[in-house]
Amino acid sequence: MKRAFVIGHPVNHSRSPMIHSYWLKRYGIEGSYEAIDVAPDELPSFFGRLKAGEFAGGNVTLPDKEDAYELCDEREALAEDIGAVNTLVVRDGQVSGSNTDYLGFLGNLDERARGWDKDLKTAIVLGAGGASRAVLVALKTRGVSEIRLLNRTVAKAEEIALDLGGPIVCGPLGDFEKHAASAGLLVNASTVGMKGTSFESLDLGLLPKTALVTDLVYTPLVTPLLADAHKLGLRTVDGLGMLLHQAVPGFEAWFEYRPEVTAELRAMIEATL
Ligand code: NAP
Repeated sequence: MKRAFVIGHPVNHSRSPMIHSYWLKRYGIEGSYEAIDVAPDELPSFFGRLKAGEFAGGNVTLPDKEDAYELCDEREALAEDIGAVNTLVVRDGQVSGSNTDYLGFLGNLDERARGWDKDLKTAIVLGAGGASRAVLVALKTRGVSEIRLLNRTVAKAEEIALDLGGPIVCGPLGDFEKHAASAGLLVNASTVGMKGTSFESLDLGLLPKTALVTDLVYTPLVTPLLADAHKLGLRTVDGLGMLLHQAVPGFEAWFEYRPEVTAELRAMIEATL
């Protein structure tokens, strides 16, 4: 029986076991997926267990994503751009790392806002943490020609722009007003929206009426940003689909079956938010 896992510290908040257990059951696959608490300093010994063949692979969540990246025997090229891994696959004692967050971001928009990238020239991305890197890599793969990366701490945005290269121009959050009129897409990749927080002054009315607004935050599912965008009649996509879609490539690699993100799965996870 193949075994897979999610590691993190803490890890019991992770919804990954629910997602993968749903698929194992749905497709009648004999396998398991468990949450294992692994602190960063315990990662080297956990990698020893991986190389010994105990697991087919698994997911990595905070705060282990960067340390796990360092310990992998090989990494997918885009994971190198992102500098962190969230998916591990073990073959012949070798651990390969990839980052499927960018695929989750794209899969979510492709599913819920079909054609969103057609003729998309300018995007605004708020936030410059780990998740933002995955969004930027995703937008670059779709050929977005201008990305405005706005962050509270501009130096962090500049560091990412330097690492990733390409069409990324940085600025403070206050620059939103300057660039909003030309943006076809607004992405919140910051933690703002969680725990009752919201952006202080972001006039979404400046965006074109055709703009799409998406938020990576999915607790709450409808963030203040999405609620404001909805009130203005803008198209919106919440962040839950990204969580579901990022899980697909891992499951396929470990259990050799490509699973589907179904409405039933979404409803099941939504009920836990
Ligand atoms: P992170 O590395 O901690 O980055 C946090 C970002 O939020 C930084 O840019 C930080 O700005 C900004 N920020 C925090 N508080 C702020 C405030 N009061 N005002 C303005 N900016 C603020 O976090 P992360 O790992 O990138 O995750 C970001 C969010 O994405 C989290 O909510 C996470 O749950 C979500 N996420 C969702 C998915 C999904 O599947 N939907 C996947 C990955 C992540 P500074 O640089 O100035 O500190």
